[in-house]
Amino acid sequence: MKRLGFLLLVTAVATAFTAVPAGEVDFAANFENATLRLDYVFCGDATHQDVYFQQACRTEEWAGRRHHLAEPLLRGNGQVIVRSAADGKVLYVNSFSTLFQEWQCTPEAEQVQRAFENCFQIPFPREKVEVEIRLYDTRGEVCGSMRHGIDPADILIRRRSDNGYPRRTLQRGGDLSEAIDIVIVSDGYAEQDYVKFFADAERARAALMGHKPFSDYAGRFSIRAVFAPSLQSGVSVPHDGNWLETSLDSHFDTFYTTRYLTTSAMQKVYDAIGTVPFEHVIVLVNTPVYGGGGIFNNVTIMGSDHPTFKEVLVHEFGHAFGGLADEYFYAGDESEQYPLDIEPWEPNISTLVDFVKKWQDMLPAGLAVPTPVDELEKQDVRKIWKTLSPEQKSSLNLKVGVYEGAGYRTKGIYRPVQECRMRMNECEEFCPVCSRAIVRMIDYYTR
Ligand SMILES: [Zn+2]
Repeated sequence: MKRLGFLLLVTAVATAFTAVPAGEVDFAANFENATLRLDYVFCGDATHQDVYFQQACRTEEWAGRRHHLAEPLLRGNGQVIVRSAADGKVLYVNSFSTLFQEWQCTPEAEQVQRAFENCFQIPFPREKVEVEIRLYDTRGEVCGSMRHGIDPADILIRRRSDNGYPRRTLQRGGDLSEAIDIVIVSDGYAEQDYVKFFADAERARAALMGHKPFSDYAGRFSIRAVFAPSLQSGVSVPHDGNWLETSLDSHFDTFYTTRYLTTSAMQKVYDAIGTVPFEHVIVLVNTPVYGGGGIFNNVTIMGSDHPTFKEVLVHEFGHAFGGLADEYFYAGDESEQYPLDIEPWEPNISTLVDFVKKWQDMLPAGLAVPTPVDELEKQDVRKIWKTLSPEQKSSLNLKVGVYEGAGYRTKGIYRPVQECRMRMNECEEFCPVCSRAIVRMIDYYTR
């Protein structure tokens, strides 16, 4: 009875001060303005996966969205689902992808079982909840699910204090409750690289916020930078036999792919960010070597000093923030990551199985499918891109169609334009379909 009274009270208070649309979860009634970080270990091999809960901690303030709480915009390769323990109502959902699931598609996963760290943030619940971690396979089927309870009064939910790492606000786009909050955290910057890190972080901010469509919505983003000092300066490059002691353990040769720069030490990443509120994290790695990665609603990781820094950062953030797929493919290097009889959830590629959910509404009437490419596109466009006229570039980047070849396959997967930021570094802009997907995501967070 007492409990019911409490619920009625908070509902009444929330109704008095905020207009929550019918069907939406009321943030204030269900959550505090605080963050519950949940640490998990994902383990398995090519054909099976398990999730284990490790620990929880609390930081004050919640930087995430306070509306669309139970409605993910994109499905992702997995989801965190929070339900009321009392009545099972879904209170919060966030979708994500993981390095673990990428690894499951590698030859190594046929041979050995491995474990990967993952950390997720949910708004701090006022009452007991059940948290489910759900994983989807490449066919979109639920292939793993783990549920556990969270009691907000649990004394073993660690309350984290400021870790003392220097931080700066690079850009402020409104209150935490309104803006999209990005944090840039350092790896491979030693104490003496302090000034360089904040200069590099500012370059990263300018690269993202200067690129369309982000530049049109820059006022909706807050960007902070955290300096987590490393013992050594630089990054580990295993193919050179070079391992360094750095704060977040980033290294090249992920899955034995030379240029794939990642970190598996997600708990170190979250510990370094500490109490700084964020929704999206960029790990900035002090290296001139080309490389980086972006995993949807998980992490963007980026080398700082390669000449293509700006282009690659925007591309990788396109994965991590916008859930965009790679539009590239190479004959002779095909992948079965996207089964041809399943519509992928990524907004910028299609198998045409459920094309109405993609960019069908953006096609001119009577367009041939697949759409034939321009004569120009039959050349090695990458090599001649700089010599093309603005009109030629526009034809390749803006003329929306259904072009065959995308998602690491030459046949059966289609891309919206011939050339896009999600296809090659040389192309300066996102295509109209990728741009729309990013704007939809910005609106999802902020409207
Ligand atoms: Zn695109």
